[in-house]
This record gives sequence, structure tokens and C-alpha cells, in this order.
Amino acid sequence: MSDHGEAAARAGRPGAGVRQETGGRVSDHGEAAARAGRPGAGVRQDTGGRVSDHGEAAARAGRPGAGVPQDTGGRVSDHGEAAARVGGEDRKAELAEALAAVEARIERACAAAGRRRDEVRLLAVTKTFPASDVALLTDLGLTDFAENRDQEAGPKAEEVAELRPEARVRWHMVGRLQRNKARSVVRWAHEVQSVDSIRLADALAKAVRAQGTPPLAVLIQASLDADPARGGCPLSELDALAGYIAGAGGLDLRGVMAVAPLGADPAEAFARLAEVAVRLRRDHPGATEVSAGMSGDLEQAIARGATCVRVGTALLGGRGLASP
Ligand SMILES: *Cc1c(COP(=O)(O)O)cnc(C)c1O
Repeated sequence: MSDHGEAAARAGRPGAGVRQETGGRVSDHGEAAARAGRPGAGVRQDTGGRVSDHGEAAARAGRPGAGVPQDTGGRVSDHGEAAARVGGEDRKAELAEALAAVEARIERACAAAGRRRDEVRLLAVTKTFPASDVALLTDLGLTDFAENRDQEAGPKAEEVAELRPEARVRWHMVGRLQRNKARSVVRWAHEVQSVDSIRLADALAKAVRAQGTPPLAVLIQASLDADPARGGCPLSELDALAGYIAGAGGLDLRGVMAVAPLGADPAEAFARLAEVAVRLRRDHPGATEVSAGMSGDLEQAIARGATCVRVGTALLGGRGLASP
């Protein structure tokens, strides 16, 4: 068992870690915070605003000093930089402004495509950003968050659960995943969007069954550029993978995901993904999700039928050169 499973157990959550819904409503939380006269977790008034919400919340949660470093296995610098960049109040305003701009883009794209806004889910891709940012985004009403590395996401999901125990939070895995991480991922992820092989699907199905939790929502990541290095299931193998997932106890096939190929026209790539999605739905009527579109191309994705956009940079800011 990994550290984070043990930590989840220590934190009094059931074996499944953070996968269960808390049943809490975001609005309850926001109202409570508002009644308390301060945003978010906030003891900030008496600290002169130099300490981030995150550090304080972590300290209240019984961890020393600046919070996370000891138990997160080497993400200290990412976290430290991000925490230093942000102060709770300023950061919340910055995120609120970015969220409003992204929302406006999604609304315009839906209107242009003759689609309803509620046909498109917004996933905030929070990789490399601290749990305190996720907490602030939950205060702003977001519920769905995506990560691409198990070792970063597991501890972050736990931290968010400590920072915002009332918030309804759903975590989505969108990154390349090795089979040996399956047991760890199913503890924090509500959905895995990056299933691209039968071997991985099999490992996830086994992990879910071992954990004894309800079926895990999965999307098949389709490769639109036939470049195996970038992940994704080749289109020629997609039907076989879908059939395998549908028959494997423990997995719930919800649809497809793709990343537009580098240097190609995203509209053309998303049109091909839409065809793949239609074909998949013929055999698997429940597989209705089409996850496509990121900060740079969400309009094209929505125009081609995306039901889910994954937005990192436009919401949270740049990740720097070293980050994925
Ligand atoms: C990082 C990432 C995103 C978000 O990309 P942005 O361009 O920062 O919006 C979306 N999908 C996947 C799979 C990612 O890894």
C-alpha cells in the first residue's frame, strides 16, 4: 500500500480513499465561508496575509510548518514555487477572473455550435499546481479536476479533501498510466480518461475489484496521430479495447478522449474523433462522453461535439518549461 492509502486510512476515510463522493454541496461550503466573513479556509486576517491559506490549512491538519513537503515525495519545489506565487486572496481573484474568461469562451463556443452550455463539462487540469488552488476553484464552484501523474494526484486529492471536506470534488486521470499504478490510481480517481490498452484496462479492472468499489468510469484515449510515444489507442484497435472494457467487471465505459496532434489542424482531428465516438456508440450506447479540447483549442472541440474540455493554462496559468 502506498503512503497515500495509509494517509487516507489515517484521515478516517474508508478503504477506497477519496473516491467516494462526500455528498457535500459546493454552495453549502461557499455559504459557510461567506457567513464566516472570509473566503475559503481563511485564518488569513491575523497573519498579515503573508502565509498562504494552504500552509495554514495544512498546519491545522496537523502537519508542521509549510505543510506538504514531508509526505509528498519530492514535489516540494513545484509546490513551494506555486505557493509563493500566490497569496490566498490575490490568487482567488486571479482564478476567478480566469474562470470567468474560460466560461465566456465555452458559452460562446456552445452558442456558435447551437449547443447548450450544460452539454459541456469543464475539467480544470491542476497538474503542477498546489491543492490550495484546487480548494479555491471549488470555492468558485468547480467540481471536476484532472491530473496526469498518479504520484502527484494522490496526495493532492487528500490535501483537497482536508482543505475542503464539504466540497464535492471529482478527480479525473488524464495522463499516461503504467499498469503498476492501477491500484494507486483507483484510490483517488473517479474517472480514468487515458485507457489505451487492454493490458491497462485489465489492471484497472482488477484494482477496482480488489478495492471493492463500484465500477470505475473510463474513457478510451484514442490516438489521432498514430504516434505511439504520445499515448492513445490506435483506431484500428479501438473496437477490441471497447469490447474488452465492456466485458470486464469493474469498469464503466463512458466514451473517448483525445489530444489534438501537435502541428495539425485541431478541427480536423476533433472531427475524426467525433466519427470514432459515433462508431463506438453504435456498440456501446452508454459511451457518450467525448473529451477533447484544451486551453488552445476548446472552441474547435466544442464545435465538433466535445462533451468535456480539459483546461489547464487558461485557468491556472503557465506551467513553465519543465512541466508536462
Ligand atoms: C495538461 C493537459 C491538458 C491541459 O492543457 P492546457 O493546454 O494547459 O489547457 C489537457 N489534457 C491533457 C491530457 C493534459 O495532459
